[in-house]
Amino acid sequence: MSVYYGSIEAGGTKFVLAIADEHFNIIKKCKFATTTPQETISKTIKYFKENRVSAIGLGSFGPIDLNLSSKTYGYITSTPKVGWKNINLVGQLKEALDIPIYFTTDVNASAYGEMKNTGKKNLVYLTIGTGIGGGAIQDGYFIGGIGHSEMGHQRINRHRDDLTFEGSCPFHGDCLEGVAAGPSLEARTGILGEKIPSDDPIWDILSYYIAQAAMNATLTLAPECIILGGGVMEKSNMISLIQKHFISMLNNYIDLPCSVEKYIRLPTVKENGSATLGNFYLAYSLFTKE
Ligand code: ZN
Repeated sequence: MSVYYGSIEAGGTKFVLAIADEHFNIIKKCKFATTTPQETISKTIKYFKENRVSAIGLGSFGPIDLNLSSKTYGYITSTPKVGWKNINLVGQLKEALDIPIYFTTDVNASAYGEMKNTGKKNLVYLTIGTGIGGGAIQDGYFIGGIGHSEMGHQRINRHRDDLTFEGSCPFHGDCLEGVAAGPSLEARTGILGEKIPSDDPIWDILSYYIAQAAMNATLTLAPECIILGGGVMEKSNMISLIQKHFISMLNNYIDLPCSVEKYIRLPTVKENGSATLGNFYLAYSLFTKE
């Protein structure tokens, strides 16, 4: 009998479902908008009832409860997303589908996919989009004890040309997410991020903040590379601006394991596929105890 693996990318704006064969090749995929939990979870269940798989890797927006001994394991917890607070995502899927589910954050799933694609077992994945999230893998395992890391809400130094902007994080104001996620662009300029010209100084300011996150990850986790994904990174010159600020901040304090172009880089899995690939491998890991 053939083995199939499922992937659920549970995002705040859309759900992406995919099915892979035993060699992790995608054979089917669909996506739909994230609406109410009831409607969105029903659609997901229907899809996997019609397309049976052996196990599912589920990377979700959060915060989520990953503590296996917690009463609310498998829940989306204190999210600001309307209607989704305290939703038992894993429990509802397991009850309906009766298969093993590996539950983690969307960025952890992306980090895992990148690990499998690059062969690097020590890496950090940061996504810079509507929000900012980070996932880290050390020696093949996710970091985190009773929960998952929240790298998007770290404190960073403000850029001297950006001191009047108070930041858009509802919890902390000018944390990293508050000053460098997509919505901060519109909050400052009144223009949607993708419509701001590439030579606008705001991109240099954003790069300065993201470089600090890369610097903090380097100094605390000593990864082999840092991968930057998400919509904001689609701006053509962002990665080189971040590399430039990073090199300046690091000031030769430690030797990088490779060139900065390879150390701070865009995702290696094409077409935003890092999380999907990671989910397939996480589903597989449920059978292998990898
Ligand atoms: Zn924050």
